[in-house]
Amino acid sequence: MAGDTERWRAGGVMLQTLPAGAMPEISASGEDGLIQSSDILQGTESENWNRANFLLDTVEDIELIGPSVTPSDLLVRLFHEEEPRIYDTQKVAFGCSCNADKVRNTLSIYSAKDITHMTNADGMVTADCQFCGAHYELHPQSLGFEATIDAEGNPLAKDEDAASAAPVGQPSGAQHAGGQQPDAQAAG
Ligand SMILES: [Zn+2]
Repeated sequence: MAGDTERWRAGGVMLQTLPAGAMPEISASGEDGLIQSSDILQGTESENWNRANFLLDTVEDIELIGPSVTPSDLLVRLFHEEEPRIYDTQKVAFGCSCNADKVRNTLSIYSAKDITHMTNADGMVTADCQFCGAHYELHPQSLGFEATIDAEGNPLAKDEDAASAAPVGQPSGAQHAGGQQPDAQAAG
């Protein structure tokens, strides 16, 4: 009806067998080189796996999306003979932990020259999160280990500036001497 909000429901069950220990070398016997359950499970384990699959196959699609049967009730009904352990339900929410600072951090290994190569025609470096699709546009001068401005566009106080502001001779002279030493040894 007009004005009604359309809502979707989704449901499903994933069945997984967990190895009891280190897995031996497996030769896949399934189609297209895929591993079949019989390649991994033998004896009782194989029977248990087949029974669990057989029970799961008895579920109607409509039962998977409720709301008449809750997921916990469905599992108990299906697998009551296997004495299932039901854990507390957890709310599912979509989320991503990406942010501009993490993108900056990832790009911090690049030189100003590398960053220039990444800069587009609009003069920005762009990055897209492959997980949530977030799109980032960052100023090239705020990126890489030779960045000259911070994320807000303010000039960065660089180490070299700090050194030149210090009294002439002492700190920079000491650094130079240290830098020259390997050359002198090679010459000698
Ligand atoms: Zn993201």
